[in-house]
Amino acid sequence: MYTTYRDLPSTPVTSQTTEDMPTGTWRTFRPIIDEDRCLRCYFCWKFCPDLSVLVAREGDLPTIDYEHCKGCGICANECPSGAIRMEREVQ
Ligand code: SF4
Ligand code: SF4
Repeated sequence: MYTTYRDLPSTPVTSQTTEDMPTGTWRTFRPIIDEDRCLRCYFCWKFCPDLSVLVAREGDLPTIDYEHCKGCGICANECPSGAIRMEREVQ
């Protein structure tokens, strides 16, 4: 059982986003982070396959790069506190 992001491998699952491909344009669901429930564990940052979870400094609330987030929901699935909900995009 992991307790902090430091227990995980030292790098995120990917090293760069698909900068030339704004995958956010075809997203069906978007992740929304609940600040009050967030533990700042950064598992979401670790597991995002597109480096679309951004953390400016340790202790900060993560934010989402909605230009590149494809809405896969991995961050919500890995979040240990249920702080990320996937909300349907308004068409
Ligand atoms: S949103 Fe969830 S996974 Fe991401 S830092 Fe907060 S508690 Fe951890
Ligand atoms: S929904 Fe997928 S692509 Fe978007 S931030 Fe979460 S893990 Fe990354």
